[in-house]
Amino acid sequence: MSYPFFFTWTSQRDAAPVQLVGGEGAFFDTADRGRYLDLGSLIYQANAGHGHRRIIEAVRAQAERLCLSVPGAVYPEKTALAEALLRHAPEGFTKVLFTLGGSDANENALKIARLVTGRHKAISRYRSYHGATLGAVSLTGDWRRVSVEPAIPGVVHVLDLDERAGRTGSTDIPRVLELEGNVGAVFLESIVGGNGVLIPSTESMLAIREACDAHGALLVVDEVLSGFGRTGRFFGLEHFDGLVPDMITMGKALTAGYGTLGAVLVHERVARHFEERVLVTGLTHYAHPISIAAALEAIRVYEDEGLVARAAALGPVLREGLEQLRDAHECATGVRAIGLLGSLELTLDAEAMGRLKRALDDERVHLHVNARAHCAIVAPPLVIEESDLREGIARLGRALGRVL
Ligand code: PLP
Repeated sequence: MSYPFFFTWTSQRDAAPVQLVGGEGAFFDTADRGRYLDLGSLIYQANAGHGHRRIIEAVRAQAERLCLSVPGAVYPEKTALAEALLRHAPEGFTKVLFTLGGSDANENALKIARLVTGRHKAISRYRSYHGATLGAVSLTGDWRRVSVEPAIPGVVHVLDLDERAGRTGSTDIPRVLELEGNVGAVFLESIVGGNGVLIPSTESMLAIREACDAHGALLVVDEVLSGFGRTGRFFGLEHFDGLVPDMITMGKALTAGYGTLGAVLVHERVARHFEERVLVTGLTHYAHPISIAAALEAIRVYEDEGLVARAAALGPVLREGLEQLRDAHECATGVRAIGLLGSLELTLDAEAMGRLKRALDDERVHLHVNARAHCAIVAPPLVIEESDLREGIARLGRALGRVL
């Protein structure tokens, strides 16, 4: 069947449309294939689960109250959301720049870094994804960058957290900053998400912070996937004691998926640059009330329902479940997990990965099979019941059993 719109990250012929009709908690419903257990939070944004009444009602009420806006508008929910986000940031963060999603959060952080430092070079990891717009995809280290090169000039990628290159706990970035010179920004996912749940050491993150200071570069931490409780902390960067970036970017679960919003949180030492100088950026739908209302309620839900602590508490169930699969299946060779974000390393070729996807579909369980990163990533809504999490892992096990 052909549709009058594009499917992304695929040829149109190979697209796999999903007939989504709704959902509840950790389950979503499709028109053609029934109910799925969601171990992927759709595309890592459904942290509060499906059909959350409080967030739906907040969006509905906002539409009645104030629906149209301009970038210069001031209204209570916009201020309340900015204050809520800054409350969760490390000390010293004073301003929020709203965007439409994660890609343009990184895009705008890159612009701010250029405006503040006067330098255009940036460093990021090969094992990373930072978004699809031209600047964000240039920062991206994985395959999604390659076909649009040359994108923007001046981005240098490093092998940090690449287990095949033997770079896991340590970092090359201080040395690259020194040799490269003239670098304005370093972009890092706090915990690498879609590229295989790679967890840096505190020591390496603090060494990068120190090197940024020594070489006049700003440190931008990307929390688009790792934020909002996913790793058992509100932001992933909280796993690294004492780490204070210059900017923090976010999107996805900022609205729990109930609106389209991203944000850049900016430390006072960077924000002060724009007191007298023009902030040369903006968007027509800057801080759109519907998305702001969704985000404000989503954050209240994370807080009121204790979902961050819940992700931390369920973390061992996910880890142990994946470890049992690793021990039971020859093709499963490793586990990396933190909070409700876990990766099972798989030595399957592309064809077998395709069979795994089909077997998971037959089991009616959704999760992220990344053939290029050789892993299956589990990231359920933080509201998932422990029994459903165990059931989902069992279904993954059954699917693995049918692959070989
Ligand atoms: N940064 C990270 C770490 C991501 O995982 C993603 C999306 O997957 C993005 C940025 C881009 O966000 P969006 O697709 O909302 O533009």
